[in-house]
Amino acid sequence: MDTIQIKDKKFSISIKEQDILREVTRVANEINRDLAEKNPLFVSVLNGSFMFTSDLMKRITIPCEISFVKLASYQGLSSTGVIKEVIGINEDLTDRTVVIVEDIVDTGLTMQRLLETLGTRNPKEIHIASLLVKPEKLKVDLNIEYVAMNIPNDFIVGYGLDYDGFGRNYPDIYTVME
Ligand code: 5GP
Ligand code: MG
Ligand code: MG
Repeated sequence: MDTIQIKDKKFSISIKEQDILREVTRVANEINRDLAEKNPLFVSVLNGSFMFTSDLMKRITIPCEISFVKLASYQGLSSTGVIKEVIGINEDLTDRTVVIVEDIVDTGLTMQRLLETLGTRNPKEIHIASLLVKPEKLKVDLNIEYVAMNIPNDFIVGYGLDYDGFGRNYPDIYTVME
């Protein structure tokens, strides 16, 4: 499919599954090389990263564990107004090598919040693997070591990412048409 309709918006094909998988394979190989001796704990951030996590983990060949978290938004008193609480992490992170697996880093505020929260649990180190990064939108200083693809500042859906809850199921990535 070259275009899809989700609710009030049309989207056009942007990144095909085979191109996504090529970059996911490259990222997996980098992690296999870098973290081979570290028994990493992968922490996948639901819902958006479910497809990326699945395809990535099938290509990870080193000893590792996988866990899943969700971010619950609630109105807080921070400058941004919305604070995200990390729910579902039960593992002991003490002295662990943690790899956060995210779908997309936009402003980076969500990732910053995750790093702060997981950082309080005394991990040895935290690495970031993100399927997508929008470099033009990044507001905070993050070291995102493992990136499948940098993309322009357009709204995308598919391969796990949603528009108002829909569109996560598509194997390809689509960009909103204006
Ligand atoms: P950040 O805190 O980095 O600004 O935002 C990260 C979150 O915003 C992502 O986890 C995702 O839920 C959402 N997001 C940012 N850009 C996009 C996009 O282009 N498409 C979709 N579907 N979600 C996005
Ligand atoms: Mg996400
Ligand atoms: Mg979303």
